Amino acid sequence: MKVDLLIHNAKYVVSVDQAGSIFELSSIAVTNGRISHLGSATELAELEATEVFDAAHHLIMPGMVNSHTHLAMTLLRGWAEGVNLQGFLERVWAAEGAIMDEATCELGTELGAAEALLSGTTTALDMYLNHVATHRGAVRVGLRHVGGPIFFDFPGLDGLEWNERISYASTWEETLSEIGGPHVPIFFMPHSCYTDSPEHLAEVAALATKFKARIHLHVSETVAENEQVQSLYNRTPTQLLKEVGVLDHPTIFGHGVHLSESDIVELARTGGAVAHCPGSNLKLGSGIADFQKLRAAGIKVGLGTDGCSSSNDLDMWQVLRLAAHMVAFKNSPAEVDLAAIIRAATIEGAEAIGLGDRIGSIEIGKEADLIALDLRAAHLTPIHNVLALLVYAAGRGDVTDVWVAGSRVVASRVLTRISLEDVISRVEERCLKLAGLK
Ligand SMILES: [Zn+2]
Repeated sequence: MKVDLLIHNAKYVVSVDQAGSIFELSSIAVTNGRISHLGSATELAELEATEVFDAAHHLIMPGMVNSHTHLAMTLLRGWAEGVNLQGFLERVWAAEGAIMDEATCELGTELGAAEALLSGTTTALDMYLNHVATHRGAVRVGLRHVGGPIFFDFPGLDGLEWNERISYASTWEETLSEIGGPHVPIFFMPHSCYTDSPEHLAEVAALATKFKARIHLHVSETVAENEQVQSLYNRTPTQLLKEVGVLDHPTIFGHGVHLSESDIVELARTGGAVAHCPGSNLKLGSGIADFQKLRAAGIKVGLGTDGCSSSNDLDMWQVLRLAAHMVAFKNSPAEVDLAAIIRAATIEGAEAIGLGDRIGSIEIGKEADLIALDLRAAHLTPIHNVLALLVYAAGRGDVTDVWVAGSRVVASRVLTRISLEDVISRVEERCLKLAGLK
């Protein structure tokens, strides 16, 4: 049998399967974008392959899933420093008004997708304006980009009125298939309970029923948000979302820092998920979600960077580390479950966004979203504990090769589909406009 790709003789394969298997001296074969064989290097050495990747010095693991981000905001990296969420939003909204048109959103998302892939993130749940343009940009770079129409009560920078947002949502499924790219689920993304009225949230929920869509929004990110929603509606954001029918759909909360005990029970009951973003939450002083408690309640917890304007980069390795450190700090070092942290960044992040049956682990039949790390580095030597190495020592500079659905989108640390130099020069030119706002 001839296979398309043979990743041969990997030093380690961190499969993130149910048993948490880590295989040594193993090979992975990919056929038609899916993992067709997984076994010892000797067993698979006989396979005839169109392309062979020699992984003798590499660790292979599933590509990471960034479960909450705003990729186009790479353009605002470092733009709003020394502020809390409210100050951040005021500063960022002014800058967005100055530069974020459709073409800029597409460009910023290309930059974000480039940064994500080069650092080992193969899938991102990405909420931003001009969702068609952002999706087009990310797919061009090769990312498994889970975007979707965004909803605000007010027209916003894209100038869309409410009814136009609804009609965009109605054509999203069609647009997705026109643009192509790796398979992704349909998502609708109302921004939050403080920017979308209960009536509008109910309308999005009804639309989600029609299109079997999933829902993603910011929930209980700060105490101020909870207080605002409480004073307007006399409810927690989660209670409000339940009442308007949003939680009747698979929903992933961005942040979920300040969920009450009953909110957690409610979210778990509905099979919902949380995108835990410790980097952004710590930087903005928002607080920190209780990773252990959410998981213990049965909520799927993914990890996310949030946008670059609040967390400054899209580095999931930093998020892994912070997630582990926060468990040690809040609970105790003995409670840090390294496998759980890795699962949150891969398979559970994938499950949280409805892709758990396709990606997130290295198992036969799954789509080949894989990353290779070169282990020949001072900071990765010696290896006493592979999971500790990944959570506490590895970084994006160690990622050399990346495949999405079996297609090599990063080869020896270089993007294969677009020119990074070209994107960087276009971004620099575009961001000159911001200078006048300083
Ligand atoms: Zn966000």
